Amino acid sequence: MRLRREEHGELARATRNRMFANGIVALLVVAVFVPLVGMAVVGPWAAVLAMILYRTRQTDLTLVNSAAPVGTAQLERRKVANAVAAALCWVVGLFVFPYLSDGKQYVTLLLAVLTLMGASTFVFSTSPLSVLLYIGILGMGAVASLAVFGQWQAMGGAVLFTIASLVATIQVRTIFLKGRLAEALVAEKDEVVSLLLREFQENEADWLWEIDTNRRVRSVSPRFAFALGRPQAEVEGMPLLELVAGRSWETGQFPPSLHDLAEKLKDRESFSNLLVQVSILGEERWWELSGTPMRDDRGRFTGFRGVGSDVTEQRKSSEKIAYLARYDTLTQLPNRLQLTEALGEALRYTEQWRTRCALLMVDLDRFKSVNDSLGHMTGDKLLAQVSARLRSLMGENQLCGRLGGDEFAIVIRDLRKAEEISHLARRVIDRLSEPYQVDEHTLYVGASVGSAMGPRDGKTVEELMRSADLALYRAKDSGGGEHCRFEPLLHVSAEERRRLEVALRKALGREEMELHYQPVVDARSENVVSFEALVRWNSADHGFVSPGKFIPLAEDTRLIVPIGKWVMRKACEEARNWPDHVKVNVNVSPEQLLEPGFHQEVVEVLAASGLKPERLEVEVTESIFLRDASVARNALEQVMALGCSVALDDFGTGYSSLGYIRKLRFSTIKVDRTFVQGAAQGSAESLAIINAVVAMAKSLDMTTTAEGVETAEEAELIRNLGCDKIQGYYFGRPMAGYEARRLFSTPQRLRA
Ligand code: C2E
Ligand code: MG
Ligand code: MG
Repeated sequence: MRLRREEHGELARATRNRMFANGIVALLVVAVFVPLVGMAVVGPWAAVLAMILYRTRQTDLTLVNSAAPVGTAQLERRKVANAVAAALCWVVGLFVFPYLSDGKQYVTLLLAVLTLMGASTFVFSTSPLSVLLYIGILGMGAVASLAVFGQWQAMGGAVLFTIASLVATIQVRTIFLKGRLAEALVAEKDEVVSLLLREFQENEADWLWEIDTNRRVRSVSPRFAFALGRPQAEVEGMPLLELVAGRSWETGQFPPSLHDLAEKLKDRESFSNLLVQVSILGEERWWELSGTPMRDDRGRFTGFRGVGSDVTEQRKSSEKIAYLARYDTLTQLPNRLQLTEALGEALRYTEQWRTRCALLMVDLDRFKSVNDSLGHMTGDKLLAQVSARLRSLMGENQLCGRLGGDEFAIVIRDLRKAEEISHLARRVIDRLSEPYQVDEHTLYVGASVGSAMGPRDGKTVEELMRSADLALYRAKDSGGGEHCRFEPLLHVSAEERRRLEVALRKALGREEMELHYQPVVDARSENVVSFEALVRWNSADHGFVSPGKFIPLAEDTRLIVPIGKWVMRKACEEARNWPDHVKVNVNVSPEQLLEPGFHQEVVEVLAASGLKPERLEVEVTESIFLRDASVARNALEQVMALGCSVALDDFGTGYSSLGYIRKLRFSTIKVDRTFVQGAAQGSAESLAIINAVVAMAKSLDMTTTAEGVETAEEAELIRNLGCDKIQGYYFGRPMAGYEARRLFSTPQRLRA
């Protein structure tokens, strides 16, 4: 379409020129031939030619003015007809005038025709066909007339000239079209570029910038001025670097990115998406700049031009995201991700330099009770204080972080001496165990530490973490406040523990559990007053497993809840077979007491078995006072309200606080075997403790039972110390239900 419009514009010019050329040549011919052949011949010829030229002009003008970009077929045909008519008119003249003038001035006429032919090749026409026909007819006319006059050589020249003219016409046309096409393409590109630029400028954050050879800003756009934080007029002509360097302009100490930019500008190097730290009105900002050096027609450098945008906000949010990914928000310590990265890095370092590194895992003792009793807000504040203390202990080469919950870890990168681990662990435990002041509470928590050394205890991050974790587990197991190093044996026991747990889960279903009963006798009469129910596990996979081993596991995994229920039911059913005055003692773990339905369960068991509540004595250890003491106490008080009694088991082994005894109305205090053995071996301390317990129990109206009496001498000693009841191998080992029953069917004293 555009091409057509261009052609029409060209046509308007061409048609005038053609008229002019034809007119001049026609006048010349008229002037030459009127004296020779008379006006009567030349006049009509000139009139016809004038008419044809007039029509041609009309047709062309119609074409130029027509709204339709494409010439209609009718107009095209008329153009061809005009061209043919004009050509024939000249050919007629070429034959007729020389004939009438006896060949005089023939050459002049021939030259005129050839001139018109030559001129036509350059004169543009929208219809190449009409031009070709015009030239062709004129050429043939000239050749024919030369033939008539026998001018054979000139005829050959005329043929060549005609062909050359035809070829030239075609070429002129092709060149014109190509030129126009190229122009059209350029115009199109210009349009696209300007569109893009407009769009670009409309994007708020972006601007165009330009500097001259002295690196002074030029043609500052409003948006660039805004980015610079100053009015347009003020910044125009100022050095770019001065505008963005802030205070570093005076010192010359540019930030590295700005220094990069200065270098690039100095070296006249183009750059794209260069991140530059700038200072605008004293505020740190980040720009992303692209620029290319400009050159004039002669290739001389004239400055730089480019685009820029302020990316401060994006950068801030991406920095924040990066921070969140690597730091714990609560404590601001490195998080698990960063710790594992640091550990991986430390392990690579050990490999490269044949050194050692270490991982310490730190777990708070009793944190859960703070969290449970005082709420998460207090727990969080406590964790923040713990973190601050931990951080203050870190030396160079040491990185601490939070793994989650109340678990922290320390990576020692280049471990010089192995003792460094235990020193640090000790300092961590001591510092973290000091009291904390959170709001109005003074809180006491301790810490346990498990450590592993790389690459000895683990060559990969996972291995080392697992080793340290096992060591930590061990440290916690031994009561907390301790540091344990990893030992290969821990892996073995961890694996065994796992397998044992799997088997324990199936034990009740497979009926692998059994109850044994150990008699408790009156210290004076040595009559059986009760039996303690002790659970036994004969595992299909592991053989006989001692309760000392599987009970703690069951407590950790809360499997003790179903097991304990089973024991309680089974023991009460069995006790129905004994004389009415014989009680049954059932061990109950803290986990069971924390279950909301414990009291209800006892009620159900008593109802189902028909056992009188007075015949059931529940045994608990001091550990129930450590966690959620009030919940456990409530549960026990409810059970006591039913008429059951409660014994305090293993007294003296745990926390040995006589204060516990006053907290609950125990019916019996069981003195642990270690004191009985100690007293038997003459330990004054053990004797004193037994004496004190017996005295206190008497004053509080409680009874005492001595555990683990194995010989007659021990029994005698205990009796003399004033204990009310005795339990031990000397009077009977734990035995199966039927064996216990037999004791009553054949009346006999236990010791002959
Ligand atoms: P415990 O309640 O203190 O039970 C007494 C333990 O001392 C029993 O060990 C018993 O066999 C042992 N024993 C009794 N007399 C003597 C003696 O003269 N010499 C020696 N060396 N030992 C004696 P056992 O059966 O291995 O039970 C260990 C612990 O497992 C029990 O200590 C109790 O805390 C726990 N346990 C046993 N059965 C149950 C149960 O059904 N539920 C709960 N929660 N714990 C249980
Ligand atoms: Mg017991
Ligand atoms: Mg005991």
